[in-house]
Amino acid sequence: MNPDLRPLAEASASEPWYQPAGNEVELFEQCHAHQLAVMLKGPTGCGKTRFVEHMAWRLGRPLITIACHDDLAASDLIGRYLIQHDGTVWQDGPLTRAVRQGAICYLDEVVEARQDTVVVLHALTDHRRILPIDKTGENLQAAPGFQLVVSYNPGYQRMLKDLKPSTRQRFVAMDLDFPAAEHEANIVRHESGVDHATATGLVSLALRIRQLKDRGLSEVPSTRLLIAAATLSTCGIGLREACYAAIVSPLSDEPSMIDALRDLVDGTF
Ligand code: ADP
Repeated sequence: MNPDLRPLAEASASEPWYQPAGNEVELFEQCHAHQLAVMLKGPTGCGKTRFVEHMAWRLGRPLITIACHDDLAASDLIGRYLIQHDGTVWQDGPLTRAVRQGAICYLDEVVEARQDTVVVLHALTDHRRILPIDKTGENLQAAPGFQLVVSYNPGYQRMLKDLKPSTRQRFVAMDLDFPAAEHEANIVRHESGVDHATATGLVSLALRIRQLKDRGLSEVPSTRLLIAAATLSTCGIGLREACYAAIVSPLSDEPSMIDALRDLVDGTF
């Protein structure tokens, strides 16, 4: 699409609900006010994306999200020339659009991206706030309000991939873990509509399963999985059945582990 015809990203009209765990909202607001880039650290499904959505709404900024993967090239972020019947036309990538519009740009799972791709972020994270676009010769100055936010799951593929210290030190890091039990139950209830007792039961099940981390279980149940089980149970699926499908099966293929997890479900409900 011709970049001139591309609609501007807009700030979310309705509030994405977010249950704070501590002072992360104030901390983020200060980072935004002082043009500091933010790194959100925490396990999958613990609320990082929801937090950014909420903050973008709160600050009245458009949000542009980029899911990082190991094929992500710098041109996927910055843009490229497209060949058309009457010549070539430059098309901004999502990072360039965010820089021009003063949006919050959220790079989800930044560690998945190749190091040479991540390097294009560097000049945006210090006082220069510029995006050099080699192909057009432009040195794009970030509009006020532009903020870079990346997420990072410290436990995941730790041995295989990590961010370079020169990249890490460009961000203010905020640790987001699974919420405290009563907060998590509140989230499950709010997001799925289950009653308080069911939400509390699901969270106590999750706490028990999370203790199995590194004792045969590599991934633990996220808040997202609890919400999925709760949602199924509100649609007439039995609670145990919902837990088997939404919590046990996604976590393991190992028959003995599946049996152990099912026993925990049966012991809870
Ligand atoms: P992540 O980006 O860390 O993988 P998400 O932000 O997608 O996780 O969280 C998964 C789901 O869990 C969200 O869609 C939301 O329903 C819920 N959730 C988790 N934490 C919170 C929270 N603190 N406040 C509101 N909802 C939350």
